[in-house]
Amino acid sequence: MMDIGSIPVRVIGPRSQPEEHDGQVLSYIDMPSEMWSYRPPELPEPDAVQNLAAARDAMQWLQQALARYPHCAAPQLANLTALDDDNRGLVNQILGEGEVAISFNGELRARTQEAVLAGVWRTLYLDDADRIIADILEVADAPHVVRMAAAGKREIVARPGDDSADLMNALSLLVELRSHVQDYELSGKPHVINLTLLPLSDADLVFLDEQLGRGPVDTLSRAYGKCQVISTQVPNVWWVRFYNSMNTLILNTLEVIDVPAVICAAPEDLQDSAQRLAGLLTPYWPDTNATRYECRICWYLYDPAAGDPLEQIPAGTEFRDLPEHWRCPQCDAGQFAFLPAGA
Ligand code: FE
Repeated sequence: MMDIGSIPVRVIGPRSQPEEHDGQVLSYIDMPSEMWSYRPPELPEPDAVQNLAAARDAMQWLQQALARYPHCAAPQLANLTALDDDNRGLVNQILGEGEVAISFNGELRARTQEAVLAGVWRTLYLDDADRIIADILEVADAPHVVRMAAAGKREIVARPGDDSADLMNALSLLVELRSHVQDYELSGKPHVINLTLLPLSDADLVFLDEQLGRGPVDTLSRAYGKCQVISTQVPNVWWVRFYNSMNTLILNTLEVIDVPAVICAAPEDLQDSAQRLAGLLTPYWPDTNATRYECRICWYLYDPAAGDPLEQIPAGTEFRDLPEHWRCPQCDAGQFAFLPAGA
């Protein structure tokens, strides 16, 4: 039996390991790490999953949410808290572990793991004793917990403190940052300050960190090498740090933006996820795809569960019930170009 605590939501990075009793910090040997690449999740035998209706419902919801997302671009959420262990285990296996892991430590605590399907997120909200109080499946460019970082209230003051004698450029940087934050609020124009290229003392970096404060979001992305994204207490200001395969910091930046791009799934990745999910589910629930039709010219997939919101075709409309004037929304081919998906 799978235990609810074994959901594959894991965050690696500072403070993720228990402290040693003697106060020693765990050190790792520098090893070149493997490049991250897509690996299909391991799945159980189809016969063993036929009766897991709740998992099937969750995956059907996910298919519909992925089909809807490009049209509305609004986050889609499903509450999986009520799943039993067997159903949750199957959902875990299908979703697997993708590139981005997020830990949220604010008034609320949460852990988010991206699935192997980009733009599909699983967020566990935790109580003080690390018990799971909610299990949420999300389809979005970035999960909700990341947007919650914008709730920070701090403003940049850029005033020298008593120990500012060692500072070289931190104060002028804060002034620059403050103007970009104001500019972003007015115009939505993002900005990146590359700290790696600037002469900065250690005292500068400590001072910047203190002035900006630590926000609740700590993200590790393996999409392009290793990248850590940390929110600050100042809304729309993030530390974004890239590491090479030997864990050496190679790029240290401050980004002014609502959500740094390195966390976000691109719209085309979400489309890719919709197609990949259909392929993953077919061996287990072959009838899931029975009524979906695929355009043989551009591979657009008509899903009756989603309908075609742009043409005001309501969800639940079978392909055979489409009005005669309906054509492929992507390549304008007539209905003759469509065949049942997987046929
Ligand atoms: Fe088409």
